Amino acid sequence: MLEIKDLYVEVEGKEILKGISLTIHAGKIHALMGPNGSGKSTLANALMGHPKYKITKGKVFLDGKDITEVKTDKRAKAGLFLSFQHPQEISGVRITNFLRTAVNEVKGTNLSVIDFHKILKEKMEFLNIDSSFLKRNLNEGFSGGEKKRAEMLQMLMLEPKYAMLDETDSGLDVDAIRIVAEGINKVKGQMGILLITHYDRFLQYLQPDSVSVINEGEIVAHGSYELAEKIQKEGFRGIINGN
Ligand code: ADP
Ligand code: MG
Repeated sequence: MLEIKDLYVEVEGKEILKGISLTIHAGKIHALMGPNGSGKSTLANALMGHPKYKITKGKVFLDGKDITEVKTDKRAKAGLFLSFQHPQEISGVRITNFLRTAVNEVKGTNLSVIDFHKILKEKMEFLNIDSSFLKRNLNEGFSGGEKKRAEMLQMLMLEPKYAMLDETDSGLDVDAIRIVAEGINKVKGQMGILLITHYDRFLQYLQPDSVSVINEGEIVAHGSYELAEKIQKEGFRGIINGN
């Protein structure tokens, strides 16, 4: 499991997370919900080891190993994956080259171009991604939905132990949400997932095993899928105020 213990995180000298404790179990989906600016992306970035997000207190354990001080690439090799809320456009880097390098690097494999493409094609068909996609540069000129599908393709190729999906549903139309959710459901059980989302539709498809609510850098509620349903009906206010 991925264990977060009493985590305090600062961004540019400002304390954003104030004692977050959460456990993401292998093979389970844990949804993290909360108002804008509550610290969801900060948590995901800090867990991935983003240098801007400074852990000032607390610890993170991945399958029992303390990764609090470990560099981002080593976290990736240990099986952690982050799908960005706002993926960067990288011009001059083709998606195929990027993915093959990433897979070989993270998994320690040395797949030939042919073997790699066989696997890639299968995953792309699964996510309903057109083959012309591969000739393009990473995220360059992509629509919001295309960026999110590129992130999901990365996840399916890298097969992490724990994946953090930061608002992967945002920017997707209804059909794309279903396709991406099906992609996640296919790997459900094979990896632990921290699902950051606002939207009920995504949660309905994915049926998380547990739900936590974050507000102003603190966890204010834990529950089952019913908690997400309650939020959808009543908003965050009642839960944040402790009703
Ligand atoms: P959420 O993802 O829940 O909407 P964030 O984690 O993005 O919230 O933001 C939480 C708080 O941290 C906000 O007040 C935001 O302005 C601040 N913050 C997050 N990232 C940065 C950053 N890179 N630089 C400055 N402030 C940041
Ligand atoms: Mg965010």
